[in-house]
Amino acid sequence: MSEKTKIPDHLIRELEDARRRIAELEAGVTERKRAGEAVQESQARLEGMLDIADDAIISMDADQRITLFNKGAERIFGYTVEETLGQPLDILLPERFVKSHREHVQDFAALPVPSPAMSERGILFGRRKDGEEFPVEISILKLEIGGETVFTAILRDIKRAEEQLIRSEKLAAVGRMTAGVAHEILNPLNIITLGLHMMADDPDTPPEFVDQVRVLEGQAIRIAKISQGLLSFARQRPVERRRFDFNETVRRTLDLVSHELRLRAVEVELRLAEGLPPILADEDQIQQVILNLLTNAHDAMSEGGRLVLRTEAIRDDGRQLVELRVEDTGEGTDPDDLDKLFDPFFTTKGEGTGLGLSICQGIIEAHGGAIRAENLPEGGTSFIIRLGIGEE
Ligand code: ADP
Repeated sequence: MSEKTKIPDHLIRELEDARRRIAELEAGVTERKRAGEAVQESQARLEGMLDIADDAIISMDADQRITLFNKGAERIFGYTVEETLGQPLDILLPERFVKSHREHVQDFAALPVPSPAMSERGILFGRRKDGEEFPVEISILKLEIGGETVFTAILRDIKRAEEQLIRSEKLAAVGRMTAGVAHEILNPLNIITLGLHMMADDPDTPPEFVDQVRVLEGQAIRIAKISQGLLSFARQRPVERRRFDFNETVRRTLDLVSHELRLRAVEVELRLAEGLPPILADEDQIQQVILNLLTNAHDAMSEGGRLVLRTEAIRDDGRQLVELRVEDTGEGTDPDDLDKLFDPFFTTKGEGTGLGLSICQGIIEAHGGAIRAENLPEGGTSFIIRLGIGEE
């Protein structure tokens, strides 16, 4: 019988002690790691929120130097974040307000902070990079972090917010009333149009009336066009998605108008990206948008010109998108009008309804995409659509 080595009791106790301490340490490390991950996660969430906010969110230190400038602030003030970090807040204010505002912030800074923060609200003037002054609604939050005073201000561009509100109210009001009215108008109008058409063609109509009857017929057709436009504007049916080849739809839509384009001596250049991923969208609606853009480009080039259609796959913030550019060499757009092109009823055409682009915008936004217009440096206008390719 072999003699078992007896481990002394005190060694066993020490071993158990060491084991317990290691377990405690491990638990501590896991805990800290978990806490670190939670901090990272909430930071990522916060950064995401800062990015998508419409308002300007700006932080500054006790010396009133800018320490945070979100995307909303870039949009509203026209500066990039790189241009502002470390700069005094004064660059965002009209000069005549700089002194009083500095003093006001200093007074506010001197007030004791009831825990954990204090805030105030008001209206003041901001100054954009191009010098334009504009009223802003401001909420300032004062925080003491590690003994340091930090201010965070949320600024809303009042004029822009009002414009957005008016625009969406206008759209909603138009939507509500149109469907019914347009529908009621179209039936009797068809009868009138047909009657006028027959009268103009009737040999019994006195020749001196024929021209007038044709003018009336033209006007009746115009009313029908407006009513139809209103109907499709109000109808905005739900998006029915299926996967399709975007380039193919662009080509097919172009075929529908290629005859008119040729008659106008408009040269067409197709620059469709190869290997574009198929998109998950409502093909009929997207085709309607493209057709509208092509028709507008045709209308803008009354003397002929060149139409370029470009598609491209792009990545934006990790999202995979397809982009279509419809570029013409037409009359271009008054820079003041670029923002208004998408408003319902905005038209510069004698025969226009001003509804085409607002319908396009409605469709693209219902798809979660974006549409915008730019003037091209060499003349003409470019319409740019971006659409997500949809869930995988
Ligand atoms: P409509 O064609 O009935 O006027 P839209 O909403 O389609 O309605 O267009 C609104 C306005 O936008 C047009 O009247 C025109 O002033 C402008 N526009 C649209 N497309 C172009 C373009 N390619 N070039 C210049 N202006 C354009």
